Amino acid sequence: MSPAKSSTVLVIGAGGVSSVCVHKMAFNPEIFPEIHLASRTKAKCDAIAASVKARCGRDIATYEIDAEEVPAMVNLIRKVQPGLVVNLALPYQDLPIMEACLAAGVDYLDTANYEPKDEAKFEYKWQWAYHDRFREAGLMALLGSGFDPGVTSVFTMWLKKHKLKTIRQLDILDCNGGDHGQHFATNFNPEINIREVTAPARHWEKGQWVETPAMSTKVAFDFEGVGQKNMYLMYHEELESLTRFVPELERARFWMTFGDQYINYLTVLQNVGMTSIEPVKFQGREIIPLQFLAAVLPKPETLGETTKGNTNIGVIATGEAIDGSGEKTFYIKNICSHEAAYEETGNQAVSYTTGVPAMIGAALMVQNIWRGEGVFNMEQMDPDPFMEMLNRHGLPWTVEELPEPVAF
Ligand code: NDP
Repeated sequence: MSPAKSSTVLVIGAGGVSSVCVHKMAFNPEIFPEIHLASRTKAKCDAIAASVKARCGRDIATYEIDAEEVPAMVNLIRKVQPGLVVNLALPYQDLPIMEACLAAGVDYLDTANYEPKDEAKFEYKWQWAYHDRFREAGLMALLGSGFDPGVTSVFTMWLKKHKLKTIRQLDILDCNGGDHGQHFATNFNPEINIREVTAPARHWEKGQWVETPAMSTKVAFDFEGVGQKNMYLMYHEELESLTRFVPELERARFWMTFGDQYINYLTVLQNVGMTSIEPVKFQGREIIPLQFLAAVLPKPETLGETTKGNTNIGVIATGEAIDGSGEKTFYIKNICSHEAAYEETGNQAVSYTTGVPAMIGAALMVQNIWRGEGVFNMEQMDPDPFMEMLNRHGLPWTVEELPEPVAF
């Protein structure tokens, strides 16, 4: 196995997730001695660099880049000479950035799997197809080092290592109990978020995918630190990797909470065609309604100041206990405060809960604690060092035994 070449990092993208990740990297100079930041709009990189400078006095070098231009990306990587490229742009840029990493000979990390622009469909197959090329180049690509995917996969593998010999059923519960005071807004990139929630729901049941209409299965759940919320069955990308790496799973589901107001607005927008990704002619040119909608919605990075409340994201798993005591159920979760996240990095908790795990994944790679040659999902790595860093870097977790499997 070849070690990481250098602990210099090049971060791509300058939205909320990138802002949190770059701040957290800057707060840990012993792990990240040199940080470079590039994105489509350099002014956004400069704003993050200015905030980092004000908070901890460190300098971040910034650049303008279109990450879809592979030769330009390769030139930038050669100039900066990082050991690792941290992709915090959008899922559309995953493949060009992976190509650039291969051409320039550096490791790769992201938080969201590739999605073609013209089809609301995310799958790991496009990125898994890069495995042999990364392996042959002696490079490592780590996919999905955010919260979900990311921490949810690590939570599951920690339970599998320390509590459960096998996992029979798994429920991922993602609750954002934050209130931003806006009529309608999304907490991360609106285009990606709306594509995700308007797609049909899919869950794993007895060895196959079961598809149901979007937002058609609703369950009320009492979330610690938030209160009772309606959560909806959805498809989410870690279900694909979890069912691959935990093959004994009989059932795996993903749930996300949405308030009634959010659902009402989304239903209207959907009914009038504003969430469509089919191009329409408008004043002589083609526009994509969802991209236009994203342009008029509040920018997620502007919501931080007004957002109050907590997120609560966790995993409930039932299976055969490691100690031979029969079937057991465990609930492992993190509760994150929007206000505390904003105070620390100037971003709300949805960006924080994604940016911190991106920093941790990067830290484990540049320190050679997580290492491999090829393309890897979070499930394939030892969960312990990641779990330990979550506790130390702002996302502490708790685990409890539940008296019985979930009743929903
Ligand atoms: P934002 O939309 O706030 O930021 C995306 C950034 O990428 C922007 O700065 C944007 O530039 C930049 N960008 C877009 N296209 C290009 C390009 N062609 N070249 C260079 N830069 C580009 O998104 P978020 O910060 O909210 O999310 C970032 C990523 O994190 C997304 O992939 C999202 O799916 C993922 N995510 C993952 C989660 C998880 O738990 N795993 C949860 C939440 C998000 P510009 O400023 O010019 O628009």
